[in-house]
Amino acid sequence: MSDCCSVNVNSGSAPAVMACPANGARSKRVDALTVKSLVRKLPLGMPNTQYYFCDASDCELVYFALDTEAPRFRREDLVVRVGAKETADPIPICYCFGFTRQDIWDEIGSTRKSTVAERIKAEVEAGHCACEVKNPSGKCCLGDVTRAAKDGLRVVQGNTF
Ligand SMILES: [Zn+2]
Repeated sequence: MSDCCSVNVNSGSAPAVMACPANGARSKRVDALTVKSLVRKLPLGMPNTQYYFCDASDCELVYFALDTEAPRFRREDLVVRVGAKETADPIPICYCFGFTRQDIWDEIGSTRKSTVAERIKAEVEAGHCACEVKNPSGKCCLGDVTRAAKDGLRVVQGNTF
């Protein structure tokens, strides 16, 4: 039987955080499933190793592995824009439901509040999210949504809109 769809990478002994080999940023573990889902073209013979996600905005490297021989993946290797690394719109924040930072800020600009986190939360509770195969971090986007909303609200309260 083929084990190509198995995600049983032995991550038990891999450190939870590794320094990005490109810029030294603290990078968290990411599931092999996330890497496989978001890298446009997987090289043949990928080793079964623990991958890490560098979310630093000044670094081109997205995924690197504990096994230093394993292929590394840069921004252009992914099928999606990595929001954490983008400085120009559209900056994706929620990959499951397609909210960008601009969507969040537009709502705040016109209504002075943000309902995006609430709406996503309802979808998550209904089991409709797929962060592990859509979000480059492999994690839920709610923290990023909340941060973007806070930034937007701060601007509104400063009346610079
Ligand atoms: Zn990096």
